Amino acid sequence: MKLAILDRDGTLNPLADDYITSADEWMAVPGALEAIARLNHGGWHVVVATNQPGLGRGLFDVVALNAIHAKMHRQVSAVGGRIDAVFYCPHAADEECACRKPAPGLLEQISDRYGVERHEVQVVGSCAAHLQAGAALGAQLHLVCTGQSAHVHPGGPLPAWLPPGSRVHASLGDFVDQLLPPAPAAAAPMAAAPLPASGDAGF
Ligand SMILES: [Zn+2]
Repeated sequence: MKLAILDRDGTLNPLADDYITSADEWMAVPGALEAIARLNHGGWHVVVATNQPGLGRGLFDVVALNAIHAKMHRQVSAVGGRIDAVFYCPHAADEECACRKPAPGLLEQISDRYGVERHEVQVVGSCAAHLQAGAALGAQLHLVCTGQSAHVHPGGPLPAWLPPGSRVHASLGDFVDQLLPPAPAAAAPMAAAPLPASGDAGF
């Protein structure tokens, strides 16, 4: 099975000044949801892994988080895509859990659940914690230059925290372009124009 694990904040939705605490505040990065649909059509399952310490700190509750993710699922569905599942760490930074990225617990749960070899998983995101969790998993690593990494440019200087072997893409759409085999060239339209009449072939 082909599995991509995406980050949420900064990758699928722009970073907010503070936590996103309600569905009304959630909006997609332009092109990100269409990129998910293209992944799906290429045979890839997409799962989201996200730290949501605002839960542990009591800034919003699971009902609000579910409403945010229901909106995300609806918008992906509207462009013909599907996020199989959203796995989140609800803990605050001081709770010392095993699932808060950059710890790999959340990503291990996902790859185990889907039965995918860890080195075959594509881990895609814009922040250090997501990529570092992917490195701890032993996955294929992809930085997209949105959100926390909007200042990074493919081919330019790379952030010091970026794990070795990470590939860098301007956007989620560019990542998908690199991952999927190029679409076959469009076939020449058949009989799109009338054939020249006999004796009138242009010479
Ligand atoms: Zn956790």
